[in-house]
Amino acid sequence: VNTSQWITATPPTPNGDLHIGHLAGPYIAGDVLRRFLAAEGADARYTTGLDDHQSYVPVRGLKDGGRKGEEVADQYGKSIESVWRQVGADFDTVVRPRHDAGYTAYVQDFFQRLHNQGHIVARTRPLPYCIGCERWLYEAYVKGGCPYCGAVGNGNACEPCGRPNDCADLTDPECTVCGQAAELRDCERLYFPLGRFEEQLLAFWQRVDMPPHLRALCERMRADGLPDIAVSHPSDWGVPVPVDGFHHQRIYVWFEMAPGYLREWEQTAAEGPAPAPVQFFGFDNGYFHALLFPAAFLADDPDNAPLARAFVVNEFYRLEGLKFSTSRRHAIWAHEELSRTSADVLRYHVLGDRPNGRQTSFTTTALARSRARLAELWDGWLLQLLTAVADDCDGFAPAQHPQGPAWERLRDRLTRTVEELREAYSVAGFDTRRAVALLDEVVSLATDFGHVHSHERLRPEGATAHRSALAAQLAVAAALSAWAHPVLPGGAERLASLLGVPAGRRIDLDALRTPAAGTRLVVPTEGVFGG
Ligand SMILES: [Zn+2]
Ligand SMILES: [Zn+2]
Repeated sequence: VNTSQWITATPPTPNGDLHIGHLAGPYIAGDVLRRFLAAEGADARYTTGLDDHQSYVPVRGLKDGGRKGEEVADQYGKSIESVWRQVGADFDTVVRPRHDAGYTAYVQDFFQRLHNQGHIVARTRPLPYCIGCERWLYEAYVKGGCPYCGAVGNGNACEPCGRPNDCADLTDPECTVCGQAAELRDCERLYFPLGRFEEQLLAFWQRVDMPPHLRALCERMRADGLPDIAVSHPSDWGVPVPVDGFHHQRIYVWFEMAPGYLREWEQTAAEGPAPAPVQFFGFDNGYFHALLFPAAFLADDPDNAPLARAFVVNEFYRLEGLKFSTSRRHAIWAHEELSRTSADVLRYHVLGDRPNGRQTSFTTTALARSRARLAELWDGWLLQLLTAVADDCDGFAPAQHPQGPAWERLRDRLTRTVEELREAYSVAGFDTRRAVALLDEVVSLATDFGHVHSHERLRPEGATAHRSALAAQLAVAAALSAWAHPVLPGGAERLASLLGVPAGRRIDLDALRTPAAGTRLVVPTEGVFGG
C-alpha cells in the first residue's frame, strides 16, 4: 500500500505581505489535509514555494521608488515564511527559485528539452509596448480589458474569469508603471501550443477530482480552441531562456512552475513511490494547474507525468464585501492580525468561513464571534468540566465508566459526527466549513450533556452517576483533542496534554475514551482554544 501523499499549495508572489485572504485560500487548508493524513499514518508531504520570478515583483520595486526586484522578493519572502510558521502551516519544502542550487539549470533543461522536441515554437505576434518607459508590456506591466469577460486586469491571465490572454488582445492596454496608453508592436516570442494535448487533457480531466467551476473553465477553453501560450517574454526578470536567438528573453514564470513541480516530484520519488499530488489553489490559478502544467508534463514525458489526483480550489475571500486589494490598501495583513489574534482562533475562523464553492467575506465582527465561540463555548465547557473533576473527583480522572441510555445516545451521535468529520477532512469530501461546524456540534453535544447531568450531583445517591457523566465528558474532551487537531493544532495539543493523552491521534471513534482512571487533571488557568 502506497501511504505516501503529496500536497501542494500554489507559491505566493513575494511582492507584498500575506493578507487574510491568502490564509483563507490554500495555505491553512492544505495544512489541515496534511495533519489529517499524518494522523491516519500516511507519510504526508506538504510543499509550496515563493514565486520569485513573477513580474509583479520588479513592478512593485518600480512603484516603490526604484527598489531592486531582489530586495522586494527577499523582504516579502521572509515575511511570508514567517506568517506560515506563525499559523502552523508546516511545509516540508519551500522552493526558493532565486536561492535553490540547481533550480535554474533544471528549469532551463526542461525548457530546452521541450524546444528540442518541437513543443515550444517561435511566433511573431503583437505585444503592447510603452514608448515612455521603453519597455515591452506583459503580465504585471500591462493592464486592460479581458477579451473574454471584459474585467480590467493584468496581462496573461484574468483573475475573475480565470482565462489566459495574449496581452495584445486586451482592450485599451496601458502601462501600469507610467499609466500611458500602450502601442502594439510585433515581437517574436516562444509559444507552447496547448491544442496538441487536447485528447490527453480530456482524458486527464475525466480522472481528476475538480469542482464544476474549474471543469467549466477547462471545457469552455476547449470549446473555443485551446490557445498557444507565450512562454517567453522580453524582460530582464526571471529565468533566462536557454534557446538560441532568445537569450535576451525570460521564461514565463507560470511555465517555469511546471518544471518546479516536476523537480519536487522527482525528489519525492527518490524517497519512495511518487504519489499523484493533491493541489490547493485559488480559482484564478485554475487554468495553470488544469491545462498548462499537465500539458507541459505530458509534452515532456507522457508515460511519467506528475498529474494531480485532485484539485482543491477556493474562490475569492472578500473583505467586508469588497475584493482584497494590496494596491488600494484594502486588506488585513496576516502578520498584523496575528499580533492580536492567536493562530488557532484565526485558523478556526478562516476555515469555518472558507470560500469553498462560493465567495465568502471576512468581517471583524464575524472574527469576534469566532473568538467568543471558542472562549465561551469550547473553553467554557472544558473549564466547567475540569472544575467539576477538581471539586468532585479530587482532581483525578474518575474510575467510573460512561454508561446509561443518555451516554449511548451521545455516543451514537458522536459516531455519526466523526464519520462526517472524516469525510470533511478527506480529499474527496474536503470541506473545512463543514469540519468546523461538526467540531462545534461535538462541543455543543458535550455541553448539553454536561448541563443535563450536572443535576446527578444533587441526588442523595448520585455520586456514581455524577462521576460517570464526568467520565463521559472527559471521553468527549479526549476525542476533541484528536478531532480538532487539524483545525486548531495549538489548542488540541494543550488539551491532549491536560488530559494526559497523546496529541495528533487518528480521527476516529477510538479517540472517544476517558483518560486512564487516576490521571491527574488540572484546571486550566488560561484559555485552551480561545486564548
Ligand atoms: Zn476575464
Ligand atoms: Zn510606461
